[in-house]
Amino acid sequence: MKVKVLTAKELTTLGIGRPTRVYFPENLSELSLLVREGFKPIGGGSNSVVSGETSLISLKGFQRVELKEKEITLGAGVPLRKVLKLQMKRGFLLFEFLAGIPRATVGGLIAQNAGAFNREVKELLKEVTFVTYSGEVKKLTEFKGFSYRESPFPKSGVVVEAKFKIEKEEKEKVKEKIREFVLRRLSKQPPFFLRTAGSTFKNPPEESAGRLLDKCGLRGFSLGDLKFSEKHANFLINEGKGTLKDFQEIVEIGKERVRELFGIELNLEVKIL
Ligand SMILES: Cc1cc2nc3c(=O)[nH]c(=O)nc-3n(C[C@H](O)[C@H](O)[C@H](O)COP(=O)(O)OP(=O)(O)OC[C@H]3O[C@@H](n4cnc5c(N)ncnc54)[C@H](O)[C@@H]3O)c2cc1C
Repeated sequence: MKVKVLTAKELTTLGIGRPTRVYFPENLSELSLLVREGFKPIGGGSNSVVSGETSLISLKGFQRVELKEKEITLGAGVPLRKVLKLQMKRGFLLFEFLAGIPRATVGGLIAQNAGAFNREVKELLKEVTFVTYSGEVKKLTEFKGFSYRESPFPKSGVVVEAKFKIEKEEKEKVKEKIREFVLRRLSKQPPFFLRTAGSTFKNPPEESAGRLLDKCGLRGFSLGDLKFSEKHANFLINEGKGTLKDFQEIVEIGKERVRELFGIELNLEVKIL
């Protein structure tokens, strides 16, 4: 099994954190050993920063793709980008509403119950196979533990693969939908080439974290090389050399201002691994 020490820029889209040891298991028994050690999983790092305090497990070796008439099985390490390409090539609907999110993987999409435009991953799940921290392989077929940007993972274990419901659609229509979602995303969010982890905070019930930060005057506010985006205040941008300390400080500033002005407690969507 490969082991590498990787920088935060290699591991995450925001590029914040310390160099971290990453294990690359290639099969279930290697994965079980690592999970039993209590190491945390990392996917594309598109919603994460890395503390460097614990070793991580990359699921890159878990790339199964098995397409059937009404379902698809996807390994946890399969990138969203690859699924979208397959949707266009084979003509089916699945993750089109997530098109345009950079580097995300199937494992991360499930763990974060990723969603956009009033849809979320939970709705598509049929079965999740995961390894528990005692090394057992289990299957989940009921998804009550999933809610807005929440799932039982990685707390209950590491996702190995999952079955999703798919819907057949004409290839041209799939392409069109993906294009539409990317354009809708670009109209609201900072451009894809900037270093960001998407939404920094979860939206509080019936509210928008971006609107609250904006009302607190934090749109465009920066600390060191980290800045709340001018286009969408809930997106932190790393303009170069942002550090974990800057991240923790700017997040505290956001929380404090919103608490003082609105009495609302913001919770991080970004995970500190
Ligand atoms: C530009 C941009 C736009 C975004 N837009 C959206 C959006 O519209 N909607 C949305 O929901 N998110 C959005 N995100 C956030 C992010 O893409 C999602 O949360 C995505 O699901 C994270 O996937 P990942 O593989 O990168 O996960 P990572 O960031 O690597 O990990 C995220 C969490 O999942 C856990 N995890 C990863 N793999 C596994 C596994 N195999 N088993 C168990 N746990 C695992 C990690 O331990 C961590 O806690 C955006 C991010 C960016 C950069």
